[in-house]
This record gives sequence, C-alpha cells and structure tokens, in this order.
Amino acid sequence: MAEPTEDTPGDTLAGNAALFERACAVLPGGVNSPVRAFGSVGGTPYFVARGHGAHVWDAEGNRYIDYVQSYGPGILGHAPPPVIAAVAAAAAAGTSYGAPTEREVRLAEEMCARIPGLEMLRLVSSGTEAAMSAVRLARGATGRNKIIKFAGCYHGHSDSLLAAGGSGVANQGLSGCDGVTPGAVADTVVAPYNVVPDIDDATAAVLVEPVAANMGLVAPTPGFLEGLRAACDGTGALLVFDEVITGFRLARGGATEFYGIRPDLWCFGKVIGGGLPVGAFGGSRETMGHLAPLGGVYQAGTLSGNPLATAAGLATLEALGPDAYDRLETVAVRLAAGLEDAFSAAGVAAVVPRVGSLLGLFFGAETPRNFDEASASVASGLYAPFFQAMLRRGVALAPGPYEAIFVSLAHSDADIDETIEAATEAAAELA
Ligand SMILES: *Cc1c(COP(=O)(O)O)cnc(C)c1O
Repeated sequence: MAEPTEDTPGDTLAGNAALFERACAVLPGGVNSPVRAFGSVGGTPYFVARGHGAHVWDAEGNRYIDYVQSYGPGILGHAPPPVIAAVAAAAAAGTSYGAPTEREVRLAEEMCARIPGLEMLRLVSSGTEAAMSAVRLARGATGRNKIIKFAGCYHGHSDSLLAAGGSGVANQGLSGCDGVTPGAVADTVVAPYNVVPDIDDATAAVLVEPVAANMGLVAPTPGFLEGLRAACDGTGALLVFDEVITGFRLARGGATEFYGIRPDLWCFGKVIGGGLPVGAFGGSRETMGHLAPLGGVYQAGTLSGNPLATAAGLATLEALGPDAYDRLETVAVRLAAGLEDAFSAAGVAAVVPRVGSLLGLFFGAETPRNFDEASASVASGLYAPFFQAMLRRGVALAPGPYEAIFVSLAHSDADIDETIEAATEAAAELA
C-alpha cells in the first residue's frame, strides 16, 4: 500500500474499520494502550498513517487537527524537522550499544540546568518506569514503606501505583485492576487531590502530579503544593513531583519553576523523549546516591539512555526556549477562550480549565478540584457526543474524558480558528 499523502487518500481496503478488525484479531481490544480503543466514546478508532505538525492523517486520508499529540510528547507537533534529523543521524551510528554515550550526559546536563534542585537523574524508557523506580528509591533512601498518592493522579501502570489511577484506568470504569495483589497495594494510601493529607513518619514518599492532567485537567488549589512541601518536611517523607506531563511543558523548568516549589524527587517522560520511549527520575546528589551502582537501590535497563531517544529528547529541548513557552501559552489561551465562547453561545454548561499550555474540558458549571468532582462531570455523558461531533469535523480530541487537551508549537492560529468553528457547531449539536 502506498503511503497516503494529502492528495491521495489511502487504500480503503485497509481503511479504519478493516484495520481495526484485523487489529482486534491479534491485539487485545485492537490496541496497545486501552484508551486508544475508543471504549468510552464509542465507534471505530482512526488508524494514523502519518502526522505532520498539528495534523494527523488516517488510513483513509482524512485529516485531523490533533490535540492528542501522543498525550504530551508532541510539544513541537508531529515529525518536527530538527528531531527527525537528529534521530536519523543517530540511527545511522547505531541504535543501542549497552555502553554509555555522550548524548546521555548532554540530556541529563540540559535537564539539570533547567530545573532548580535537580542534580542527578537516571534515564529509563517510560514514565511508568520512572515513577516505579522513584518509589523504590524513596523507600530505599528513607527505610520506610508507605507511599501516599492522590485519587485521579496517574503514575503509570506499576502495581503499587495503579490504585485510583485516573486516565485510562478511569476511562475503563475500573476502580482497581485485576492481577494486582492486595500485598502490592498494602502500602499505598490514596488521598483526595487538593487536600494535604496526614503524613506520618512511616511514609516514604508523597507522589503528586503538580497539575493533575490525567483526570481531565485539575489545577492545584493555592496552598496545596506548598502544604505538601511543608508536611513532608515535617516528617522526612520525600515529596515526588510526577512531571511526566508538566516537565518542560508548563515552563522551561516545568512545574517546579511554574510554582516555585522544589520536590525531593522528580519523574519525567513524554516531552523529554520527543516521541521516542523515554522517562527519567532524579533528585539531589545525596538522594540519587542511594541508586546502584552508588548505593543499594537496584535499577537497570537494556535500552535506558537509548541513542535515538536521547537524540530526539535533546533536539526537542533545544527547540524549547523561552519564546516557545510564550507561544504555547498564547495558543492555549486562545483555544480555551474560543471553546468557552462556543459552549456559552450554545447554552451548554462547560468549563475549560487551563494551566500554562495544558487545557481540560469538563461539562457542568463548576471547575472540578478533585477526582470525585471530575467524575461527576464525566457522568453527564456529554464528552462522547462532543468528541464524535468534533472528530466528524476533523478535530481529534483524546478518546476519553479524563485526558488533557495538548496544544503544540505547530498549532497555527488558523488551526485554532478552525477548531473553534468546529466546536461552535459541535456545541450547537449537543444543545
Ligand atoms: C503518561 C504518564 C505516566 C506514564 O508514562 P508512560 O510513558 O505512559 O509509562 C506517568 N505519570 C504521568 C503523570 C503521566 O501522564
């Protein structure tokens, strides 16, 4: 089958429905990550043939303005030339060695230079690995077992962190996960977001998304992150910011810079891989000194610090100077205002929360502050018809109500205008 281009639609025998049928025969649910199966919005997923900038084209040649952007990595849009060039050059020199490379050092240097307090880090291959390893490190460093997480925050799919996980877990309507033993979650305490929990001296770590972006978008209320910092300081628990989404997106220095609060450990992913599989966790020299080979907390990875992934990550960070954050914010402000206008013109109660370039969408009059409130909005059932009405008009939102809306530097003013036009019609359809 020829690669579809803008002018030549793809082979319809390999159209979305046919591909989904073939996929369902060999991949559970037809996908490799549950939310992609369209379970909570209904219908057949579009299969992406290619992406360029703000757009993706499906297997039938339909173009969508893409606000999924791989759930965060696509901060520059799809196939940005400097990233593609860096990956191609790296690939020509070999794709994995099992020995250290200069590029790993450069990526770590660049990340540490941007984030105050981040002195050392370890590269891994996913955000899941980053959060899982940060928890092990926190336990090893403190000699304590208990961890506290917040309902609706997602920290990847490791056993002890799946409890009340938001994102795809919530989309599936699962309260927990089969196959996770009671023992695996026995030391995990789940607290409501935006309330500082009681933290005792058995607590190794408090994990938080500094802006919750896996239950739609829920901002931290003033004092929440400060309160967590103080409460952790009071008991010696380590504060872990899961910046897998916020890192290098909210600001040059992520949520740490944006809110001016330093955690003890950070988790990263998404943006730092520029679309290739990467994660990282890091902290002070002292805390990271507990990690093997310096200390007794073991962690390893065949593909960790991968040459292609570090090339993509470095090229992505290089494109993210201060101007980039101004532009991202401008795009997000414009989109949020346009969406709000579209809903109010149609008389549909909806809110579009925004933090920096991160956007959410909740039906209802109130802005949710935690997972229960986010779930109450989702129960309106309006996300699925809105999603479908937008998709029919060539705008791809995430196929689940608990995901954020991701803008990129490739989204032009014309893309935003077209999106708002589509939203105006889609909102009228809902009303
Ligand atoms: C996506 C995400 C993860 C997991 O990252 P993967 O690369 O999907 O394993 C962890 N934490 C947060 C906040 C995320 O958004």
